[in-house]
Amino acid sequence: MNLDELGWDNFFEEHFSSFHKKGLMPGRIVSEEKTFFLLYSESGEYKAKLSGRLRFNAKSRSDLPVVGDWVAVSGDSGKMVIRGILPRKSKFSRKVASNLELVTEEQVISTNIDTVFIVSGMDADFNINRIMRYLTIVAESGACPVIILNKKDLCAHPEYLRDEVRKKVPDVPLHTISALKKEGLEPLNQYLVRGKTVTLIGSSGVGKSTLVNRIIGKERQAVGEVREDGKGRHITAKRELIFIPGGGLFIDNPGMRSVSLWGEKESADETFEDIAELSRQCKFKDCTHRTEPGCAIKKALDEGTLDEERFKNFLKLKRELAVLSVKRSQRARMRVGG
Ligand code: GDP
Ligand code: ZN
Repeated sequence: MNLDELGWDNFFEEHFSSFHKKGLMPGRIVSEEKTFFLLYSESGEYKAKLSGRLRFNAKSRSDLPVVGDWVAVSGDSGKMVIRGILPRKSKFSRKVASNLELVTEEQVISTNIDTVFIVSGMDADFNINRIMRYLTIVAESGACPVIILNKKDLCAHPEYLRDEVRKKVPDVPLHTISALKKEGLEPLNQYLVRGKTVTLIGSSGVGKSTLVNRIIGKERQAVGEVREDGKGRHITAKRELIFIPGGGLFIDNPGMRSVSLWGEKESADETFEDIAELSRQCKFKDCTHRTEPGCAIKKALDEGTLDEERFKNFLKLKRELAVLSVKRSQRARMRVGG
């Protein structure tokens, strides 16, 4: 295996220099099993354990490796030890209630993803607001979004839905496909390239599994025999970082499949940067954009430079994120009470 092929680039090279001086070797986490990590490195596939020091120094679970991470390892094939984690270029995480602490803890699901396919069905289930929410999640992760409208074979006028999405988010790449009928898949190859890591998210039933099978083929490589070096035995391990036959890597794990809304307030502003910018021009800092004088948003709505629908989506997303954070703190408070 070649490091470039695994997604290695200047960013990681730079951050690896201190490890390099210690004679460590880079590897990328493929999956986490109960008693070991599976990783790919220049010299092949290995089982590895965490060094006691790394485990001891971890302040939270987010300081431990997950699929997609680049790590620094030492040792030979018999005893690979993970001694450090490189900074993450992008990460998907969710807030989970921690048993030990009163605050919610960050659970990292996967890292160093370049491109995320946001899959949505062009059937009765089509929901533009849901796409906007997934966009928020991807924006927060640091990866690049690509919107995929699937099941175009079920839609009499796929171009209507496509245009609706394009109007709302003109800058996000958009493709209409039928994963089932294998239509429109060719353009997706531009994202499935050597050294780039791709994953997909979307609600249940939109066709994610069907598309995954189209991308990585029948041989899922997802579970396989791993050589247990030193002892000459073979063990079975799952693989969540998967080579795509034509080039590139694919991350597929249960956590990514069930990614849903867990964003933070700031991300609503990021997705709706134009609205955030307008609200900075309001006369009052805490303007609610309802009745206040000098409200830049009300003015834009009146003048038609801001789309009413878009503003409604912005408010809805803000509300949902606010509810989410209230729920979170309620959970934390309940735990104080016992
Ligand atoms: P997932 O839950 O997102 O993984 O969705 P699946 O891949 O399991 O697909 C859900 C259902 O939609 C299955 O019955 C698929 O055969 C069907 N499906 C997936 N892609 C398409 C498509 O492009 N067109 C049509 N008509 N059905 C599709
Ligand atoms: Zn205002």
